[in-house]
Amino acid sequence: MKPDNVLKISGLKVAYGGIKAVKGIDLEVDRGELVTLIGANGAGKTTTLKAITGTLPPCKVEGTIAYLGQALNATQHATKSFKLVEQKLAMVPEGRGVFTRMTIHENLLMGAYTRNDKAAIETDIEKWYTVFPRLKERSTQLAGTLSGGEQQMLAMARALMCHPTLLLLDEPSMGLAPIMVEKIFEVIRDVSKQGITVLLVEQNAKLALQAANRAYVMESGAITMTGNAQDMLHDPRVQAAYLGE
Ligand code: ATP
Repeated sequence: MKPDNVLKISGLKVAYGGIKAVKGIDLEVDRGELVTLIGANGAGKTTTLKAITGTLPPCKVEGTIAYLGQALNATQHATKSFKLVEQKLAMVPEGRGVFTRMTIHENLLMGAYTRNDKAAIETDIEKWYTVFPRLKERSTQLAGTLSGGEQQMLAMARALMCHPTLLLLDEPSMGLAPIMVEKIFEVIRDVSKQGITVLLVEQNAKLALQAANRAYVMESGAITMTGNAQDMLHDPRVQAAYLGE
């Protein structure tokens, strides 16, 4: 393993009953990189992220996943996702996963529950309120009553409250208006510039490749292409299959 490896997936296979969702993939993310995993519906992208976070339903898993050199178990820490936050591994799942019966402010505090620097936590919350003024206006509103876009902003801010080493994002642009998509991608780029390592799963291949350093293309459970994101933006095969060009 390279010393700057944050995440290393080797030979990962996931099968849901007879459905082989992931068929032996290798994927690595180095410290400070923004890596994107793109691919069509059903390619196996979310399954790959769930294997990293240990949130897969009961299914057959083979291969290894190492985070900062330590093996993660793809199925057994499902009930211990708080452990991931303690290890500074944060995930913004598809469908957001905010605490619906808590206010925005309480959600942000929950994101920081592993920290005890109270004053700095409040400073961070204020910082996120500046980035997303909509959240500030609604700080006492229950998260379950927020719009999809507002929940996405909150989920992202909450994940970042733990100052993660690795941030996993599952389809952050899904269901958002174009202006919101731009905002979310601006935040992703900023987070990356601050040195946080990011693995971004996206169907919006153009935006993802524009933001990323490196990319993997997943098709029917296998990695079919990998390389520099800018090169892939100009690759005719990627353009034909994913960029509508
Ligand atoms: P999308 O972009 O549409 O979210 P994806 O690339 O994230 O797709 P996955 O959600 O990982 O794809 O799904 C990969 C395959 O595994 C699909 O064929 C899907 O139907 C199947 N699958 C996912 N979850 C389950 C499950 N719990 N039980 C059975 N099959 C599943």
